[in-house]
Amino acid sequence: MTWEFCTEPDFEEKLEWTRSFVRDEVMPLEVLDVDDARLRELIKPLQEEVRKQGLWAAFLPPHLGGSGWGQVKMALLSEILGEALWAPTVFGSRAPDSGNGELLAIGATPEQRDRYLRPLLDGEIRSCFAMTEPDAGSDPTRIRTTARADGGGWIINGHKWFASNACVAAFLLVMCVTDPDARPREGQSIFLVPRGTPGLTVVRNIPALDDHNPYFRAPQPDQHAEVLLEDVRVSQENLVGRLGQGWELAQARLGPGRIHHCMRWLGQANRAFRMLCGSRLADKQLIQHYIAQSAAQMQAARLMTLHAAWVIDTDGIEAARTDISMIKFFGSRVLHDVIDRALQVHGSLGYSADMPLEWMYRLARAARIYDGPDEIHEALVARRLLKQFTPVRVPSEHIPTRRLAAERRLGITTVMEPA
Ligand SMILES: Cc1cc2nc3c(=O)[nH]c(=O)nc-3n(C[C@H](O)[C@H](O)[C@H](O)COP(=O)(O)OP(=O)(O)OC[C@H]3O[C@@H](n4cnc5c(N)ncnc54)[C@H](O)[C@@H]3O)c2cc1C
Repeated sequence: MTWEFCTEPDFEEKLEWTRSFVRDEVMPLEVLDVDDARLRELIKPLQEEVRKQGLWAAFLPPHLGGSGWGQVKMALLSEILGEALWAPTVFGSRAPDSGNGELLAIGATPEQRDRYLRPLLDGEIRSCFAMTEPDAGSDPTRIRTTARADGGGWIINGHKWFASNACVAAFLLVMCVTDPDARPREGQSIFLVPRGTPGLTVVRNIPALDDHNPYFRAPQPDQHAEVLLEDVRVSQENLVGRLGQGWELAQARLGPGRIHHCMRWLGQANRAFRMLCGSRLADKQLIQHYIAQSAAQMQAARLMTLHAAWVIDTDGIEAARTDISMIKFFGSRVLHDVIDRALQVHGSLGYSADMPLEWMYRLARAARIYDGPDEIHEALVARRLLKQFTPVRVPSEHIPTRRLAAERRLGITTVMEPA
């Protein structure tokens, strides 16, 4: 019987190195007013250091240069990386590239691996996952982008939006309907569409809450684009995985990705919590209520996330679906609440861009929407739990009914005295 809450000493050493490195080397990058090119120059030597430590793209299996640690360890690492805006880039595990790397690791052909996955993992190129459409977000069964077989290849038509990284990506992974008569789980497939393919237009980066910072010239890490696909011709070799495997691959990508997100959110929450506790008002009773509430919520979110990670490691992604959905909506709420309280106690200073709480708050708001809005995950959890119950006419805990049953079982009659 093991039921432990500790980290192996060898791994704790790696985490400790990561904590100091992120605090001393990565966090300072956030406050520099430099453009994207200069920022990349500053990040490069840090990425080299991470590689030397064997922590680069650690989420991947060992044969692709990753750690093969599994999700619990990845979750613990992600919590630290979540603290700093640029840490996921420095460690080669920034979404959506990390998730796209995971997807290609499962579904890519040997050629796709050499041509796209390797340079993606080496940090030489960036990538995009284009699934959401203006009329198909929460409900991917409504996806209308089609890929039609034509002369040994495929012709894609559709309209995607909120495709993060599309403007800078070397390739897009596009979710398409390949068999409109099949159930969506079997009728959708993913195609790799290289940048520059005729008919592919990245229309614009959609101005959004998370893409501007009054202080800095460097753009926020990811921007989200609108994409048009008009008679885009790709060959059979651009299919990722099997025909009809799109849904399955998307799930494989999103499951562990959500755990890493949740732990990164916790890193952000930890940071806000430190600001909350460091506030001049921390000795006031109401603020102590905020502190206690935040600490309890964060502890719950952390344990739920690590447990979900453990279920993936132990029994696989399908077994962890309910746990993953549960932490997705719970964790995003905790992130929001802790940052909100820290911002509140700092008053107008907290609201201003003189404190990082300003961008932390803006980024946190998106967590309740991306990777499936919270309501969808709540509904999924409820539906799964409800499978264990059957509605009954008489509630199972109805006391007079239970008393009758107990009396029959014991062969006695009891009389309730009037009050
Ligand atoms: C920052 C950010 C980055 C993103 N990056 C990507 C990306 O890289 N690639 C990509 O493909 N997509 C991306 N998305 C899109 C994201 O996955 C979708 O926004 C999400 O799936 C929700 O879809 P929607 O926006 O169309 O909302 P809708 O489906 O229009 O839903 C709107 C709201 O209605 C409510 N709602 C919807 N359905 C239900 C229901 N059944 N029950 C109760 N309430 C419901 C929810 O509150 C939801 O927020 C990103 C989104 C954001 C915000």
